Amino acid sequence: MNAEILAVGTELLHGDIVNTNAQYISKKFAKIGIDVHFHTVVGDNAQRMKMAFETALGRADIVVCTGGLGPTQDDMTKDILADYLGRKMIMDEDSKIHLEQRFAMRNRIMTQNNLRQVYFPEGSLILKNDNGTANGCILEEKGKTVILLPGPPREVNPLMDEYVVDFLMKYSNEVVVCSKIRVYNLGESTAETLIMDLIENQTNPTIASYAGDSSVVFRITAKAGSKEEAIELIKPLEKQLLTRFGDNGQIVEEEV
Ligand code: ATP
Ligand code: MG
Repeated sequence: MNAEILAVGTELLHGDIVNTNAQYISKKFAKIGIDVHFHTVVGDNAQRMKMAFETALGRADIVVCTGGLGPTQDDMTKDILADYLGRKMIMDEDSKIHLEQRFAMRNRIMTQNNLRQVYFPEGSLILKNDNGTANGCILEEKGKTVILLPGPPREVNPLMDEYVVDFLMKYSNEVVVCSKIRVYNLGESTAETLIMDLIENQTNPTIASYAGDSSVVFRITAKAGSKEEAIELIKPLEKQLLTRFGDNGQIVEEEV
């Protein structure tokens, strides 16, 4: 299973905001064994959004799209996708109640354009957004899965944690476990040379490196049927790397 993350928003292209949604979603996917092959960013432009969906659905099994589910005219992700897939936009009663409750909670008047947020492409599975007005949705089409999430990270992250990961677990019978070793005092090329034979023979686990400001991190990643099996695969390689790097290497405690 492979995925593409499609972030919608002209402000991303202008550099006004950073695409942290792609980072968050990628990290989650890495943990459940879904390979992310592309990060794409497209502005709020109907024609280019359609092209982006077409491209993503042409090359990925799972497309996760963030942004453009809000009430305003430039929020058109759902309409573009529905149009592209040839599906009608259907009102979702529960989403309407959700929207009305969110406005009532804040004593705010709901303008008519807000109702855009309760229409979804026909056949959508609705993802209730407890941190905002715009619910997300999941659609399946010809063996592909498209997941539409809102833009704000404080809404995206819980939706990923609460619904999307569970939903996609059915496609993944593997777990992925990573271990990271940070190497100080040696440049990336010197560090890599010390373990070149291991890198050349990598299959599962794999070894990948990335350079930080004053250190290099080597990430060992194993896929297996269970967490325990993955850890079993990682441990011997981790030990070999630590031996090669000597005092310059240390294990990075994994963030949760
Ligand atoms: P809203 O109802 O708030 O308009 P929306 O689903 O329409 O939500 P956008 O309008 O695309 O989403 O984005 C809303 C805000 O979310 C942006 O102004 C930005 O602060 C944040 N945001 C959007 N996309 C991303 C992203 N890829 N990474 C990080 N933050 C983002
Ligand atoms: Mg918006």
